[in-house]
Amino acid sequence: MKIKRKGILFVISAPSGAGKTTLCREAANRLDNLEFSISYTTRPPRPGEENGRDYHFVDEETFLEMVEKGEMAEWARVYNHLYGTPKAPLLKAIEAGKDILLDIDIQGASQIKAAFPEDAVTIFVFPPSLEALRERLSKRGADAPQVIKERWEKAEEEMAMYPLFRYFVVNDRLEEAIEDLIAVIKAERHRVERIKETQW
Ligand code: 5GP
Repeated sequence: MKIKRKGILFVISAPSGAGKTTLCREAANRLDNLEFSISYTTRPPRPGEENGRDYHFVDEETFLEMVEKGEMAEWARVYNHLYGTPKAPLLKAIEAGKDILLDIDIQGASQIKAAFPEDAVTIFVFPPSLEALRERLSKRGADAPQVIKERWEKAEEEMAMYPLFRYFVVNDRLEEAIEDLIAVIKAERHRVERIKETQW
């Protein structure tokens, strides 16, 4: 029995510091046919980040030119930098039956949901508590104190956005959260309306 289906865009958002990136990475490691969308950003690379692997790092002019040409599926200003998802790889993946993970902010998630109502599946990651979120943000050490403060202030506001999403995962015990995320992905892969072709 051979089944060809459309690719799915798994859009994962969370307040900054909820541990979303670790969750996404683990899910991608454990599942076949799941690749990360690589965003464009005007933010400078952090130590250890690689152009073309973590992000495509570009200047603001290049970024806005892509927006103007309609090459972004969504884009947003997040903490003073621009972030955007290129459209072409998404269209290609849907057509080829490949699934994509988009680790993007809440504004971007809403845009993807509106642009791809059938092919996007939105998932919201809750931190175990606001206190845990605060701790993670300050321990991460990658950002300046001012940046940490901004992110913390925004987190409470972002928590209230969960009703915009289809699924949620609580990132309390990591292993359980990974299993929950994988369960959502597997269930969505088995929806009959995604089938393009059957052979038997
Ligand atoms: P960071 O600078 O820590 O890598 O990311 C900051 C925030 O921007 C995170 O919430 C991340 O999910 C979000 N982000 C990363 N790429 C994109 C993107 O292409 N579009 C949008 N809207 N947000 C993004």
